[in-house]
Amino acid sequence: MTKTSPARIIDGKAVSAAIRAELARHVAIIREQRAVQPGLAVILIGDDAPSQVYVKSKEKLAAEAGFRSVVYRRPADTPEEPLLTLIEGLNEDPEIHGILVQLPVPPQIDEAKVIETISPEKDVDGFHPMNVGRLATGQDAPIPCTPLGCLTLLKRELGDLAGLHAVVVGRSNIVGKPMATLLLRENCTVTMAHSRTRDLPALCREADILVPAIGKPRFIRGDWVKPGAAVIDVGINRIDAGKGDGSTRLVGDVDFDEAVKVAGLITPVPGGVGPMTIAMLLRNTLEAYCRIHRIAFPLA
Ligand code: NDP
Repeated sequence: MTKTSPARIIDGKAVSAAIRAELARHVAIIREQRAVQPGLAVILIGDDAPSQVYVKSKEKLAAEAGFRSVVYRRPADTPEEPLLTLIEGLNEDPEIHGILVQLPVPPQIDEAKVIETISPEKDVDGFHPMNVGRLATGQDAPIPCTPLGCLTLLKRELGDLAGLHAVVVGRSNIVGKPMATLLLRENCTVTMAHSRTRDLPALCREADILVPAIGKPRFIRGDWVKPGAAVIDVGINRIDAGKGDGSTRLVGDVDFDEAVKVAGLITPVPGGVGPMTIAMLLRNTLEAYCRIHRIAFPLA
């Protein structure tokens, strides 16, 4: 990749809308032909403001695409036991094909236990240890939504990723680790960086594909980016909008204004990876439906 002009800005919102329209087309066909429509259950515990926004958006877009969409809202002091019972009920519910518990959960609830209670075949987040293991060993498994969204954008833009050096910054179970697994599966040479990495700027400068998932506003500077690289910014950080009225705005982990001058491709925040996550959740729900009903999954 060589650098000749400012980066092409990837419109994740438009790609997400196109994928959701395609999913809606398939869901409509299923609904015409079958008694049971694909169903997604989302469980939200507590009143964390960003989680409420995400869940509302998931509910709306799932319904728009023709899915049966059910949201279970529970108070912040909900004990663990009734939550596990609710999940067990949904595991058995023939009208539900995908189950998602919005993370983080309050401290009285053991997150690992919640994830392990979700039936692996309805685990549309791909967080169940059985699915994590299947993905890591190259078997068929649901793929965590945010990394799958990033990979979808990369493949649409670059095609074959084989041989490219990908640097993933961040090693969380929900983004960094599965992202690295997926890029390895695409035959990239993958480096994972984290808070103990030495000389992160120099490492980032070697990346043909740079995927920061850190949670630190504009942390990755423009001069850390290799000219022409693809920059997929996963970070979502709320900062003061600088208007003096207490209003806020969202920025990524990358200093966009600097990096756009150096990169070949870049995702904005908002409007990049974020909208792709929901599209991939719906994709995974349709895929779970197809697996459960033993019909071919219609998408590549
Ligand atoms: P976590 O807090 O779980 O993980 C952050 C990772 O970043 C850790 O591995 C940490 O390293 C690493 N890190 C922290 N500081 C540095 C540093 N100075 N240098 C290098 N690495 C560092 O975050 P998540 O993975 O859950 O989320 C990351 C970001 O992505 C957040 O902004 C989040 O809001 C966003 N996000 C966006 C989604 C979307 O739909 N677009 C979905 C999910 C998350 P260590 O392990 O050593 O502590």
